[in-house]
Amino acid sequence: MMTLKTNEPTPNTPTVPVLIVGAGLAGLACAKTLQRHGVPFLIVEADGAVGGRVQSDVHHGFTLDRGFQAFNTAYEEARHFLDFKALNLQAFYAGAVIRHNGAFHQVGDPFRDLRQLFTGLFSSIGTLKDKLLTLKLSLYAKGLDESAIFQMPEQPTLSFLQDYGFSETYIQQFFKPFYGGVFLENTLKTSVRKFLYTFKCFAHGSVTLPQAGMHAIPQQLSQSFGSHELWLNRSVVELSPFDIQAPAPRTVTLSDGSEILANFVIFATPLAETFHLLGESLDVPQNATVNLYFSFEGRLPKGLVGDALYLNGEGTGIIQHLCFISEVASDYAPRGKHLLSVTLNNVTLKETAFETASQRDAQVRHELHAWFGDSVKNWVKEAEYVIPHALSESTLLYGENAPHIQASIHRLQAKWNILLASDALDSGSINGALRAGRLTALQLLEHLSPHTKESHA
Ligand SMILES: Cc1cc2nc3c(=O)[nH]c(=O)nc-3n(C[C@H](O)[C@H](O)[C@H](O)COP(=O)(O)OP(=O)(O)OC[C@H]3O[C@@H](n4cnc5c(N)ncnc54)[C@H](O)[C@@H]3O)c2cc1C
Repeated sequence: MMTLKTNEPTPNTPTVPVLIVGAGLAGLACAKTLQRHGVPFLIVEADGAVGGRVQSDVHHGFTLDRGFQAFNTAYEEARHFLDFKALNLQAFYAGAVIRHNGAFHQVGDPFRDLRQLFTGLFSSIGTLKDKLLTLKLSLYAKGLDESAIFQMPEQPTLSFLQDYGFSETYIQQFFKPFYGGVFLENTLKTSVRKFLYTFKCFAHGSVTLPQAGMHAIPQQLSQSFGSHELWLNRSVVELSPFDIQAPAPRTVTLSDGSEILANFVIFATPLAETFHLLGESLDVPQNATVNLYFSFEGRLPKGLVGDALYLNGEGTGIIQHLCFISEVASDYAPRGKHLLSVTLNNVTLKETAFETASQRDAQVRHELHAWFGDSVKNWVKEAEYVIPHALSESTLLYGENAPHIQASIHRLQAKWNILLASDALDSGSINGALRAGRLTALQLLEHLSPHTKESHA
């Protein structure tokens, strides 16, 4: 937590017109928008790389995303910022494979590929009614306006699906494993608004990975920034308070002890961290995740759809979903090797579940063996990522804490005279972070010049 400081900079303190704290997607989109409008800025990032929650590591020649995530081509906001072609996006199989009753069941998505209509209709997952309801819901979600989705009455996803008429079996076998993986909680208590937003994206777009790993997204966003515009490995630790009687540039103290004067400060840090940094608090539950990577040589286990997402529809076990990620994007593994990404359900984070990581890993291997047989014995664990604060349960646009978040943000911004940019102001997603960054930059531009032309839509 920071201490209060007065506006008394030392002589020669550098001054920047706009300081952006954090180089996650929101901070980068904010900076990119300012750059396009010719407004000078400086981003200060605590980490050694850009990207925030969208990062990848290279380990033994494998590309390991820090937590499984994917890029949906229906993310409209991303078109403002990203060259999709240069990202060389590699699509997952349109549909999924569900593990249920000790066997794999392929479920196609007819909206992506008509040939999949029959795979979907004849799979043993769900009744015919469930399948027709899925088609109906896809058509409904596809036609919904995004702003209408985020104004819908609040309801947990689970009760929405039950009210819609889906069978409990289908919810258990398909919606819980799939959306549990999207929400990072598998009771489906997450808001129906988030559900319909992502459902709409899945109905319109393809689920993809950049060939070079998810980190290619922030890298592409930041490639036009000079070293005077982006400082890594330095965090903001202190901000001088705002004095409405004597508005002056703010003194910002960095972790290396240096100071900067900033005319405007934008916090593009996760919301709870921003509050904490300013000596305030915001209590909003966060969903966690655990992601393990395994490598192996030779052939894939027989009869698999290599580029599919595999969902655990057994209703037991700690694996949420997995994919042979190098079958989707071949550069994730060196030639001749395969990379498997396994996402665990959040039971694994509870202390009571496993006393040690090796007990947890033994359980994962046990489940993998039941799915894929003896070949699993030769699979090598490459890495694990435990991410306690992956996604906020609520944002400004959805969830039971939305009104609390809104009131807290208003109070914070008024007291500190700062702007915020974060996925928590939007849909808690890649698309949401990019949009939040752009809209915050536009807000500032309007303040600087009330006649800014760019649309806020
Ligand atoms: C495991 C996982 C899976 C996900 N799956 C998906 C998915 O499939 N699809 C999807 O759309 N979204 C997904 N998301 C969500 C998406 O990644 C986030 O919504 C988005 O990246 C958030 O961006 P942000 O810029 O708002 O915040 P962040 O990425 O958290 O960026 C904040 C930045 O601020 C920096 N910072 C913090 N404090 C300071 C300080 N004091 N000084 C300087 N810098 C500081 C941090 O280091 C960080 O770089 C997933 C997220 C996770 C973690």
